[in-house]
Amino acid sequence: MNNQRVRVRFAPSPTGPLHAGGVRTALYNYLFARQQGGEMLLRIEDTDQNRYVPGAEEYILEALDWLGVQIDEGPQQGGPHAPYRQSERKEMYREYAEKLIADGKAYYAFDTAEELDAMRKRLEEAKVAAVQYNAITRMEMTNSLTLTPEQTQAKLESGEPYVIRMKIMPKEDVRFKDLIRDWVVVHSSQIDDKVLLKSDGMPTYHLANIVDDHLMGITHVIRGEEWLPSAPLHVLLYRYLGWESTMPQFAHLPLLLKPDGNGKLSKRDADLGGFPIFPLEWTDPVTGDKAKGFREEGYLPAATANFLALLGWNAGTEQEIFDMEDLIKAFSFERVHKAGARFDIQKANWFNQQYLKQMDDAAIVAQIKPLYQAKGIDVKDDQIAQIVHLLKDRVHFVKEIVSESVFLFNEPEVYDQDVAVKKWNEEAVNAISALKDAFADFSGDFTSQNIKEAIFAALDAIGVKMGKVMQALRLAVTGAGAGPDLMIIMEILGKDEVVKRLENALDRLPAQIRLA
Ligand code: GLU
Repeated sequence: MNNQRVRVRFAPSPTGPLHAGGVRTALYNYLFARQQGGEMLLRIEDTDQNRYVPGAEEYILEALDWLGVQIDEGPQQGGPHAPYRQSERKEMYREYAEKLIADGKAYYAFDTAEELDAMRKRLEEAKVAAVQYNAITRMEMTNSLTLTPEQTQAKLESGEPYVIRMKIMPKEDVRFKDLIRDWVVVHSSQIDDKVLLKSDGMPTYHLANIVDDHLMGITHVIRGEEWLPSAPLHVLLYRYLGWESTMPQFAHLPLLLKPDGNGKLSKRDADLGGFPIFPLEWTDPVTGDKAKGFREEGYLPAATANFLALLGWNAGTEQEIFDMEDLIKAFSFERVHKAGARFDIQKANWFNQQYLKQMDDAAIVAQIKPLYQAKGIDVKDDQIAQIVHLLKDRVHFVKEIVSESVFLFNEPEVYDQDVAVKKWNEEAVNAISALKDAFADFSGDFTSQNIKEAIFAALDAIGVKMGKVMQALRLAVTGAGAGPDLMIIMEILGKDEVVKRLENALDRLPAQIRLA
């Protein structure tokens, strides 16, 4: 690597919400830029106006911001190479396409859609392997290579629509060293004469991307594997434009695969699996179709970034938990895999759980207070703190603390029927009655430790083993057969509430079992 200052860019097209793969691309760019003390640019590649989707650019900005990917130069930040939206740079590109023509590396093509179709048909019928506009077929078409200069000039002056195509030279080897895939070698005969400038005067992706990367001083192009087939063409463009000596290095990142590892991850997988693959929720402005977002589903931004960073990269150690600073230090292209990375939402949940455990209780209390209020539950801060303490290690999401604790506030109306039928027997009824009396008479602090001792003593007195009636006790107190530490639940509820719930259960459970 030369000692030039690192400059990378994330160059999304605003054609919809950014999916997990795109977010990961942005993240790797950011990690590398920060690690190298370089700059991270955001460039909006919006030259294909047919595919432009309103709201997509705002979505991209918000998603990066949420994840903590900071942009140094971009449409919002500005910078020395503004504008950073390609549609606003339209006039700049033509010059380079025309320079290529002047140098004999590109040409005007006037073929109509029908003529192009006819060519394709002809080649297909002749069973030609590469059905494309190339060194051989271009000589049968209407372009400035087959027309005389006068004919070409006349067409241009008459305002006839045209495109500018790249003139790929036959028999050239295109080689470049990818930071992840090592040497990539392609023969130029496999590359077609790509359109560089469209008939509406807009550049294609290829031209705009290369011109901008060059003008913006990009040193590393880090992008998804789907762009690997375009890379040889890009290398040729650098060569034809005389910019090969400052060509950026390429790093093509592995694909994200479906949860079962078979094929590319798609929105359909997310819909079927009921999990998000987008950072933020998205509503399609045309169809109204909704897609889930990591943010709205309750994933913490740091956990999401950690999860995405490990899709296709690892540190080569056992360490899995990396905050942004750790990722910046540890990231390297050598440890980015070539093979696709399976998208496993369970892993994302696991990361969220790890980050939740590390979170400050007070911060969680502040986050969930409004969630209780929204459910109409009036709960005091110290009570929430106890609940957080009780449930924090058992859940994957902050919001689960609320859903798992609503039973604390509403006494059970129905009891889990399976558990009731199995566990609410004569022995249990005797034990629960004894416990109800013991609790009613209890004096002192109603703490989990004291409660436990009181239970031991009361059961001992009637000769019942604790293990045999614990589930019945839980059923009576919470209505459920399983859940968090029952002693702590009873402590949070307080003595009077527990006694009341035991009385209710003794009253209601026999009827519920009979009706079943
Ligand atoms: N605009 C392209 C995209 O949407 C950029 C590809 C690249 O990074 O070169 O992903």
